[in-house]
Amino acid sequence: MKKQFAVIGLGRFGGSVCRALIENGMEVLAIDRDEAKVEQFRDIATHAVIADTTDEKVLKSLGIRNFDHVIVAIGDDIQASILTTLILVELGVPHVTAKALNAYHAKVLNKVGAEKVVHPERDMGVRIAHHLISKNILDY
Ligand code: ATP
Repeated sequence: MKKQFAVIGLGRFGGSVCRALIENGMEVLAIDRDEAKVEQFRDIATHAVIADTTDEKVLKSLGIRNFDHVIVAIGDDIQASILTTLILVELGVPHVTAKALNAYHAKVLNKVGAEKVVHPERDMGVRIAHHLISKNILDY
């Protein structure tokens, strides 16, 4: 059976994760509280819904506990990101990946039980630096 993914927050990061999962044949539920963002995924995601994920009742009604992996891609609203992650963990979602804006945010996300915490800008900066270093060594 195909793995079921849900992506919460369809900004540049969440939107990109969502598209890549879909392009690789995964089933994806796309969620955002912003109707315009959800509209962009209506035709490509398996399902796309407008929802505020800080409301536990809403997440329960979406059957979120049946998803194998949920990606919390809410950035700027740190409170919403933490609360959403906490609810997902409490509901028993097996794998929760959350995006952190900074080290403090990451610490709290880890504490509330996120399985994996990513910092897209920082992680990409490190990868690019490594790539540049290895390229320089090869060019030498
Ligand atoms: P990115 O840096 O990935 O481009 P962004 O700057 O567009 O993101 P963020 O503030 O990081 O926006 O939030 C990402 C998405 O999360 C937004 O589309 C926003 O509407 C959505 N979002 C924020 N809070 C909630 C919430 N409580 N429930 C559902 N979606 C939310």
